[in-house]
Amino acid sequence: MSSNTPSNPANKAPKNNAAAAPEAAGEHKVSNFLRQIIENDLDKGTYASRHWAGTPGDAAHHAAGPLDPAKIRTRFPPEPNGYLHVGHAKSICLNFGLARDYGGVCHMRFDDTNPEKEDTEYVNSILDAVQWLGFNWEANGQSHLFQASDYFDFMYRAAEYLITAGHAYVDEQTAEQMRAARGDFGKPGVDSPFRSRTPEQNLARFREMRDGAHEDGSMVLRAKIDMASPNINLRDPAIYRIRRATHHNTGDKWCIYPMYTFAHPIEDALEQITHSICTLEFEDQRPFYDWLMDRLCEGGLLAHPAPHQYEFARLNLTYVITSKRKLAQLVYDHKVSGWDDPRMPTIVGLRRRGYTPESIQLFAERIGVTKSDSWIDYSTLEGCLREDLENKAHRGMAVLDPVKLVLTNWAEAFGADDYTEDCTQPALPHSAIAEGQTPPPERVFKIGNEVWIEREDFEEVPPKGYKRLFPGNVVRLKGGYVIECTGCAKDASGTVTEVHAKVIPGTKSGTPGADSVKAKAAITWVSVASGVSAEVRLYDRLFSDPNPDAGGKDFIEALNPNSLKVVTAYVEPSLAAAKPDQKFQFERFGYFVADRVDHVAGSKPVFNRVTGLKDSWGK
Ligand code: ATP
Ligand code: MG
Repeated sequence: MSSNTPSNPANKAPKNNAAAAPEAAGEHKVSNFLRQIIENDLDKGTYASRHWAGTPGDAAHHAAGPLDPAKIRTRFPPEPNGYLHVGHAKSICLNFGLARDYGGVCHMRFDDTNPEKEDTEYVNSILDAVQWLGFNWEANGQSHLFQASDYFDFMYRAAEYLITAGHAYVDEQTAEQMRAARGDFGKPGVDSPFRSRTPEQNLARFREMRDGAHEDGSMVLRAKIDMASPNINLRDPAIYRIRRATHHNTGDKWCIYPMYTFAHPIEDALEQITHSICTLEFEDQRPFYDWLMDRLCEGGLLAHPAPHQYEFARLNLTYVITSKRKLAQLVYDHKVSGWDDPRMPTIVGLRRRGYTPESIQLFAERIGVTKSDSWIDYSTLEGCLREDLENKAHRGMAVLDPVKLVLTNWAEAFGADDYTEDCTQPALPHSAIAEGQTPPPERVFKIGNEVWIEREDFEEVPPKGYKRLFPGNVVRLKGGYVIECTGCAKDASGTVTEVHAKVIPGTKSGTPGADSVKAKAAITWVSVASGVSAEVRLYDRLFSDPNPDAGGKDFIEALNPNSLKVVTAYVEPSLAAAKPDQKFQFERFGYFVADRVDHVAGSKPVFNRVTGLKDSWGK
């Protein structure tokens, strides 16, 4: 497994500047082949003479409009058949980011030419995801939200034009016959017996297809290119098929639908896209893309210069599946609680897990764009999150595996067992506050005669090197007093039920006597009197296998049975008061977020673990 995370230090976001993370990434943009292509096009003025009529359209439509105020146009074109995932986030950051950086516009386009059941749930979730990531499709006083099915009329016209010009024909072979005649890498294809029909015959047949005179699958319209081409995609690809299906936008108007490879270039051209960026699988389709653009431009249907397709390597992330279909299977088979399960690599899942838009933008920037496939280590994504939250997320104490610690001399030291005192600690450490920035208000929490501590912070018989609580040892309750451990109480089975210690008065943090007694360690705690019980969801990787679906493996087999552990914890009051979606650093444990769905401030705190403080993936 290799990671192509650039190790160039210039690629690191500046520290201590978390609020500026996305802009910072922008200022120190690492160049890549797409940036070079765009900069070169801008230098040469490749697209400077383009017109834009304000809406998508054909050559005549745009010719009547003014010069395009956008220097470049890119697009993000999802099919609305599922929730977007982290791979899409890479594409969103890339397309919207390039448009932003070069005075361009990025179109939000639903690629809905496939008359499959479309769900408005998916459409809305996609728009939400793009906006949440920090992008939008408004520019120059216009919305650039489009749907490809609005272009069916033009696509049909383009098909008739190709037929008339002798560049397309209706093929009535069966699917099997066509497959057999296509040949393979070593064997040229064989011309269809229908290939030599006249344009008039083809046009009549194609209109019959449109008018519903033929069965689904009985014939297709094919581009007439070259059955012997070394690129199989140029061996007369199908461009229109018969399919009786009600389309969510156009209803029953059509019983023929364009193939994706025909529709996509046309969508780009009608929208005056300059740089059409897609993943590497489409590289072999580029010659057809160009062929189609050339034919429709020479026919005067589409405006010059035509868009150009560029391919980049898709994101492959270890321990993660990035296929909408497979993610849907996890949801429908109830392997996860839904599309927004915090273990899901969907954008809604990452959001609920506690990822920030800035951390995902930083990730997209850091992994860069290349032309060769590779795997990115999941730790890279987590690292970006830590980097973003380090200076933003307020600190707080939580005890995740609580056992009670009783300070047996409390009444003797302070007059009464129910005496309590306020402790204060900064919400952010000094190192997280940028120059000139006002620190947030300090956290205030009580200390009393009983506190919750982590079970692992006491050992009756300490292992070698153990510095926390054991009889006779002196430690500090972080932000509170120094205490000396005296022993414990146990139940019949030998399980520790209470830890006992003595408080050493005059040693409270922040007071002159704080250093008068040397503590061997500082442990985290929450007072029994003011701590709030909270549900904490300890998420781990969803799959145990770093490449869960590689090589046709059954990814369900690779599910990690321990990907979620729920504990009842105690948290300090500042954490319990969190707003949903607020992120924290639980001291010593890592980053946590108040669950956006289930958390109720004060009365029902629910936290998700986003990530630990250190990388645990490579080990
Ligand atoms: P899926 O197989 O998950 O459905 P898709 O590519 O079919 O993915 P689309 O909705 O067609 O999904 O994708 C929209 C855009 O997102 C496309 O331009 C596609 O190239 C890009 N994209 C999808 N997956 C990735 C990925 N893993 N890395 C980078 N870009 C991606
Ligand atoms: Mg798809």
